[in-house]
Amino acid sequence: MHKVIIRKSDYKYPSLTQSIFEMMDSLAGDKIQRGSRVVIKPNLLAPASPDKAIVTHPLIVKAVAEYVLDRGAIPQISDSSAVGSFERVLKDSGIKEALSGLAVEYKEFKESSIVDVGEPFKKIEIAADALNADVLINLPKLKTHMQMVLTLGVKNLFGCIVGMKKPEWHFRTGVNREMFAQLLVKIYQAVNPAINIMDGILAMEGQGPGKRGEPRHLGVLLGSSNAAALDITVCRMLGIVPETVLTNKFAVEQGIVTDDISVDGELPRITDFKLPEITPLLFGPQKFHGLLRRHLVQRPECDDSLCKLCGECWKYCPAEAITHSGKKVRFDYDKCIRCYCCIEVCPHGVLSARETLAGKVTRKMLKL
Ligand code: SF4
Ligand code: SF4
Repeated sequence: MHKVIIRKSDYKYPSLTQSIFEMMDSLAGDKIQRGSRVVIKPNLLAPASPDKAIVTHPLIVKAVAEYVLDRGAIPQISDSSAVGSFERVLKDSGIKEALSGLAVEYKEFKESSIVDVGEPFKKIEIAADALNADVLINLPKLKTHMQMVLTLGVKNLFGCIVGMKKPEWHFRTGVNREMFAQLLVKIYQAVNPAINIMDGILAMEGQGPGKRGEPRHLGVLLGSSNAAALDITVCRMLGIVPETVLTNKFAVEQGIVTDDISVDGELPRITDFKLPEITPLLFGPQKFHGLLRRHLVQRPECDDSLCKLCGECWKYCPAEAITHSGKKVRFDYDKCIRCYCCIEVCPHGVLSARETLAGKVTRKMLKL
């Protein structure tokens, strides 16, 4: 049986610390030993203040680091952000300030080791610090995700893929969400965090996980030693069929998690959580998929009047489908694989996914 702990919480110290220390006591057991290196992996997607709900709240990171220090172990805060420098993300997220005075090491994931995860991906390069940690603590943020519906515990570990290897994997898995979900589950298995604590206090709904998403107060902290059990519990809390989040489906298929989940605490039922608008990327006979994708599936579009031409979108686009004229960004929709990474990483929130008229009509006709 998998245990998921859920507690009502806000970001006020010391009640937050008390909830986190209790969770850690229950989940860590004797895993955190004196002198051991404990890698703490928050969601540090991009430089953003905590009120935007893009990154794991700094006080959650602080409470976990304090617990690790209390046990005589060495906390290391690590991630590989999609946008901006690691230093800038630490500063803008408030983590550097919140943790000042604590003996914490900050280290961006930079070096990778190769792990053979078997078919269909075989060898994957994963952050060596995550693989070699004595204990890995995963601190995801509860957010919507335009490609994967939600980004939760399992998806947060995609940050253990270093730098531009991330868009490379987006390109290799292409529009196939099932394939991408399988990859995420393989990464989770490889890094195998001992503890997962999710920041669902100020969550994100709507067109997440970047600047287009909307902060939504849920007031919950969730913890488990099994990230997939945590994710399934979040889906139940939000009234979503757990398999809608494809990582849950593959985690069940891989035997990582079963239905046998006990919840310690009161699971709220949230019935009005806004999910992102997601349209099917693959439908109809396979030979028409390329054509359908080009003409019928939601495509990224830019509000040119607000674009700062900062270049984050074209630097990150795995398909090299974005260029610019010096005045505007331009999309090559033949090359675009509809991963929506550009929307995720745009620091100004000026990109959105728009469905073509032909796409809308076709989907209605096919009742998709
Ligand atoms: S669309 Fe966004 S990320 Fe791309 S150049 Fe404009 S502001 Fe920057
Ligand atoms: S243009 Fe955007 S959606 Fe298309 S492939 Fe590039 S990052 Fe992905």
